[in-house]
Amino acid sequence: MRRVAIYPGSFDPVHNGHLDLIQRASRSFETVIVALLENEAKCGLFSVPERLALLRETITQKNVRVDSFHGLLVDFMRERRSRIIIRGLRAVSDFEYEFQMAQMNRHLYPEVETLFMVPGEEYTFLSSRVVKEVARLKGDVSRLVPASVIRALEKKLA
Ligand code: ADP
Repeated sequence: MRRVAIYPGSFDPVHNGHLDLIQRASRSFETVIVALLENEAKCGLFSVPERLALLRETITQKNVRVDSFHGLLVDFMRERRSRIIIRGLRAVSDFEYEFQMAQMNRHLYPEVETLFMVPGEEYTFLSSRVVKEVARLKGDVSRLVPASVIRALEKKLA
């Protein structure tokens, strides 16, 4: 099996912590697929097409692709012939949920491995939720997200 790693998430919107992880993963795997979960139950600030466009505009690595999926991550992984899930760990608070998901994904697809990556320390406080909250209150997010996301946030929250 080729070394294809899947990096799943909501990316609503993509921020510099995600991009840091994508860069690190792209150095370790032949191909990285950033996989946007289309979750009908969870309505984001940005639509799925908008989130995909922002990801595609900001990711520069040649071996990184952007895609979206419905339903179970493990089904998407089987389709893409990948057995590696990349997830980010920022702090201990991420651990419990991530541990549960990793065990569940292994239960559903025994060959799967979840690999955790730690971002640069300047990104450990960063989440899409915090970016949106600060942007809504007109705070400066220019060092937290790429320029295209700043423009998109300004337009969306105008
Ligand atoms: P979720 O799947 O919780 O909606 P996100 O789309 O926000 O998550 O993030 C996708 C993945 O990126 C998750 O593994 C999350 O832990 C990770 N991640 C989010 N923010 C950061 C960050 N600042 N540094 C490293 N990893 C992060």
